[in-house]
Amino acid sequence: MTMSGTYFPIFCDIRGTPVLVVGAGKVAERKIGSLLAHGAAVTVVAPRFSDPVRRRVERGEVRGIRSRFLPEHLGGMAMAFAAASDPAANRSVAREARRRGIPVNVADVPAECTFILPAVVPAGSFTLAVSTSGKNPGAARAIREFLEDRKAEIAVRFERGRRRKGIPASKGIVYIVGAGPGDPDLLTVRALGLLRSADVVLYDYLVPGEILSLASPKAAKICFARRGRTAGHGSALKQNAIHAAMARFAGEGKSVVRLKSGDPLVFGRGGEEGEFLAAKGIPFEIVPGITAAAGCAAAAGIPLTHRDLSSSVTLLAGHESDGKRGTKIDWKRLPARGTLAVYMGVARAKDLARDLVEKAGIPGNTPFAAVENGTRRGQRILRGRLADLPRLASAAGIRSPAILFVGKTASLALAGDRDRENPEEGTYGPVAQSV
Ligand code: SAH
Repeated sequence: MTMSGTYFPIFCDIRGTPVLVVGAGKVAERKIGSLLAHGAAVTVVAPRFSDPVRRRVERGEVRGIRSRFLPEHLGGMAMAFAAASDPAANRSVAREARRRGIPVNVADVPAECTFILPAVVPAGSFTLAVSTSGKNPGAARAIREFLEDRKAEIAVRFERGRRRKGIPASKGIVYIVGAGPGDPDLLTVRALGLLRSADVVLYDYLVPGEILSLASPKAAKICFARRGRTAGHGSALKQNAIHAAMARFAGEGKSVVRLKSGDPLVFGRGGEEGEFLAAKGIPFEIVPGITAAAGCAAAAGIPLTHRDLSSSVTLLAGHESDGKRGTKIDWKRLPARGTLAVYMGVARAKDLARDLVEKAGIPGNTPFAAVENGTRRGQRILRGRLADLPRLASAAGIRSPAILFVGKTASLALAGDRDRENPEEGTYGPVAQSV
């Protein structure tokens, strides 16, 4: 393998090593902090000390010499950092150190350094270091940020490696992850990283294949809660089965992704699952996702709030779950003038429209928009007036998954150029025609 760049990458044990830092401002303070964290014996030389450096000297954490830099300060040193604000002082540190064969780093002047410091990502039990040989610190930072984003994935792979070698892995963990409304581009970076590194993915039927295909090919993928089978007694059984599966796989030390459509905490039973895991002492983390209301509103160009038209948005369950009749909503107390986003409502569009008009007092001529398969293949948008919802929804054959928006903004259809080419939108009813 050929190495690009001039520098030899190296990690050094500097515990107890005498290190000279010239300068006592902000840059020097950062270096001192990091050197001390790695156990170096630090001497700082500067005519004036900043408060943090002075306090470190007073606490005896570093030896302080109040002076401008003199070559003899390098006596007995194994490494030197020039971090003074005066470039001439830094140059003389570099020159003297080189002459004595002491490795030297000059802050922000790679040409004067005999060693440079990489961009570092501490990632639990390991450290990632990135260098562009001092030529492009911006790129090094970008790479560091990239790695930072994928830290969870890297950590999981690292754990897997330990298990393979028979080294006891740390405890398993469950990630309760939101997959967003369906378009894989709407996954969070964190969700993608976790999927790529998962040992097991437990997913709901609403999560499309395109998203599952992003999971590690080695991961076991298990579907829970199929369409139409989530209600009543069966639902409780399913939920228990999900809990048991999460506990079993986590108990085996695996990284389990519990993948749910939209956001796990919006009509997703993520709350129940979190409670279960907490009660069992199983480590877990909740990773939010774009909920259907947000994803489908964007897809249809409907502002959920609008300065002139709507000051609230209410997320409602049209059913308590797909396939179950009835709801516990207190219709009389809905903020009827804002936007309503009704999940799981299409199957009972008739009752829903009646409840909204008669119980919630929403005028029948209020605009609605129903978004079926929002952000997925086969997306359809149906618009009209609330009073016509049952007729229009049944004529168009709108099916789950679909979300219903009711309110003044539901007649809006903000469209970027890309959306305008989308032929899927149906124009139904007088509202849509006037848009
Ligand atoms: N946790 C999910 C909601 C799960 S309940 C979330 O935050 O989005 C399931 C309901 O969500 C469906 O019945 C439908 O009303 C809505 N839904 C989910 N994905 C959808 C999509 N792509 N298009 C339209 N509605 C969707």
